Parts: sequence; structure tokens; C-alpha cells
Amino acid sequence: MWKDKVLAYESQIIDDLKGLLAIESVRDDSKASDAYPVGPGPRKALDYMYEIAERDGFGTHDVDHIAGRIEAGAGEDVFGILCHVDVVPAGDGWDTDPFDPVVTSDKIIARGTLDDKGPTIAAYYAVKILNEMNVDWKKRIHIIIGTDEESDWKCTDRYFETEEMPTLGFAPDAEFPAIHGEKGISTFDVIQTVKAEDIDEPDYELYSFVSGQRYNMVPDEAIAKVLVKENMTDVIQSFENYLQQNQLDGTSTVDSGVLELKVFGKAVHGMDPSKGTNAGLYLLNFLANLKLDKTASNFVAFSERYLFKSDFGEKMGMKFHTDVMGDVTTNIGVINYNNQEGGSFGINLRYPEGFEFTKALTRFEEEINALGFDIELGKNQSPHYVDKNDPFVQSLVETYRNQTGDHSEPYVIGGGTYARNLDKGVAFGAMFKDTEDLMHQKNEYMTKKQLLDATSIYLEALYKLCVEG
Ligand SMILES: [Zn+2]
Repeated sequence: MWKDKVLAYESQIIDDLKGLLAIESVRDDSKASDAYPVGPGPRKALDYMYEIAERDGFGTHDVDHIAGRIEAGAGEDVFGILCHVDVVPAGDGWDTDPFDPVVTSDKIIARGTLDDKGPTIAAYYAVKILNEMNVDWKKRIHIIIGTDEESDWKCTDRYFETEEMPTLGFAPDAEFPAIHGEKGISTFDVIQTVKAEDIDEPDYELYSFVSGQRYNMVPDEAIAKVLVKENMTDVIQSFENYLQQNQLDGTSTVDSGVLELKVFGKAVHGMDPSKGTNAGLYLLNFLANLKLDKTASNFVAFSERYLFKSDFGEKMGMKFHTDVMGDVTTNIGVINYNNQEGGSFGINLRYPEGFEFTKALTRFEEEINALGFDIELGKNQSPHYVDKNDPFVQSLVETYRNQTGDHSEPYVIGGGTYARNLDKGVAFGAMFKDTEDLMHQKNEYMTKKQLLDATSIYLEALYKLCVEG
């Protein structure tokens, strides 16, 4: 019955989605102003949503052109649907124009179909269809639309500075059945603050070390430049042996007495570093065998003592596990060293609810201060969690089950979704089990079936939560 209602709107849904997809709503700081806080594209997409909402008789409320809402329903409590209309840049290699949507017999192809314009239109239509059924609303609905989800979340930061926090809500910006918990996500740098004097002439001097560019990725390449005074062939031989023993790829080249060593690892997302191979930590592990200059050897020793082969915070004294949310994970995403300034490690640490992050970090800092290292905290987002047995989550999941026959459980992730902006909210769709996940990739598409099925699930869920209950 819900699906039939949605089918009656099929061509309108696709037309409205096409209009939204045709807007190149990529953040462009070079054209930012008060009128276009993250560039003209994202604002144009936001205005487009206001236009279709006003056409359909809904109220809208803009917040500094960076976020806003469409208002529906009636009642005391506010149910929030948190969407975003900005997209990541198209990138290369598309078979079609990413901002000229192509509709085939079964799919819609364009940047943003999955993330997050398709799900945004699906959720919008769920509200519109209920409204046109003249239901007796028990809650107000705010469809909150952000324009900076893909970068800094300036949209939701600004929005919730002044606007009402929904009592409940979901973000249609991930997967079904629902993501009900997300780990806390922190980034910090461990910085070497003390340079050591060498008493004896060292055999080897570490000139520089570079590995990784992003805190949330396991680095797949590391390069060390070492001044080798003697036994060059021996060092190269032991490096070759090391690579072999550890089943790693790498290279060594010599240029006027300076040996350049390169190790290749395996890049994976920093939320689960145990699945990757950290090229940087392996190369430091090799360097630990050489009699390096004192500053470098302190740096290498730090890695050995606290970081190497410690994907779950165990060597930092931060091992922690809950059955609901899993383990603390520690990814050493960025490693730099040079013989002028010393070195630093850029760390992405994710933690379940219950882990006392600030306390653990303070204790660790005290311990490593004595070794000539300091901590600079970047960002710390606390864990986000809604009990999966909460009636609200149950309603969402039951709806999904009714309509798909799939009885998967809602789950928790190490990553972060847009839902964490809500006090009580979960990520709910719109990818299904069989969806090809091309978010942020070339040839991103959404099947018509997925678009209509998601709309139908949102329709029934909103009916249960905002009309019946
Ligand atoms: Zn998204």
C-alpha cells in the first residue's frame, strides 16, 4: 500500500531529483561570501529545496544561507530529518556528465544520487505524500538541509547555534536498516619536543622521514633518507631481508652517501587500522635496528614502544572494549621527521561510549612528557549512541523489515555519520544491502527501485512516528 502511494508520484520524484542533481553544489571557498558561505553551488541547491517546498505549500526557514529547514506537521515535538545537498567534486573518469543527470530505464546517474540528494528527495516526498493524504499530524517535522556536510559541518554547527533541536530524528545519509551508534573520533599529534645531543658520532643519521597525509587513512607508503657513513651494502642487505621477512614491498636507492628507503603498505580507512599495513610504522621498525643519531633513535623508540603493532591502543595504555561498540582503535596516519626539528605522529583514535578519552590522554601525555614528547589535541567528537531497543529505533527498523523482508540488525560503526548532529538520532538508509556503494566515486548512480523503496520506507516510518505516535 505504501509502495503504491509512492508509485503514483514516480515521475514527479524523478523530475525534482533531476533538478537538484543538475546543480553543481560543490564547496568553493574561492567564491565564498556572506551570501554564499561555502560558494554559490551549495546555496543554489538549498534554495532549490525551498522552491519545491514552497511550490508544495510548506513553510521554510533559512539560516544564513548555509542551512535551513522545510516545515511540516503539527504538534509539540519536532521530528528531524537531517539531509545535505552539497556534494563532493565529480573527479575524473565519468562516462556521463556528472551534473547532467542521465535517467535510464532503471537508474539515475549523476554526482550526489546516493550522497545525499537521492535520499533527500526520498525523505522530502515521504513528508509531501503524507501531507497530501491530509493525515492528522502528532508531531512537527523539520527537514533540515545542510550545505557543508562533505567538509566541515559548518552548516549544522551554525544551524543548531540558534535553531530548535528535534526531539528525535534520522539522517538519510548512510545505510539501512539503521546505524544506531558511532564511536567517538579524536585526532591528536604527538610531537617530539626535545632534541638530543650525540656523544659519539652516530653510524647513521636520519635526515628525513615522511609517511601518510591523512589522519583517517593507514599510510601505504613511507620514505626515509638516511646518511650512511659505512657498511652501505650491509644496510641494504638487511633492509631486503626485513622486507622479505615481513612480506612487504619496498625499494632502496643510494644518492651520494644518502640511502633512500621506501616501504609500501596497504591503505585502508583509519577506523579499522588492523585491516591495513602501516608502511610508516614498519619502516620505523626497520630503522630501530640501526644505530641512529640520538634524536632519531628516540623518535624511532617511541614508535616501537607505543605505536608499532598496536592498532587497539594497547601500547598506549588505552585498550578498551565494550560489547556494544567494540574496541578503541588507533591509527597512526601521518608520520614526519626531519633532522632540524625532530618528528611527529598524527593519530586518529576512535573509542566506544564509556571510554574516558580526556583522562586517558592526559595520563598518556604525562608519561611521554618525560621522554621529550608532547601532545597537541586536534578534534574530539564524543561517541553517539541510541539504544537499538529504543522504541523509536525499533519503529524504523520494523518498517524496513516489513517492506524488505530483510531481518538484519541495526549496527554501530567506527566512522561518523551526519546523524551525530542530532541529540537523539540515527542514520537510516538510503543504501540497501544490494546497493553498489559508489558514494564519492565516479559514475555514482541510484536505481529507481532504490529511490522509490526508500521513499516508501520513510513514508511508513514517518506515519508510525509522527501520525500514529
Ligand atoms: Zn552524505
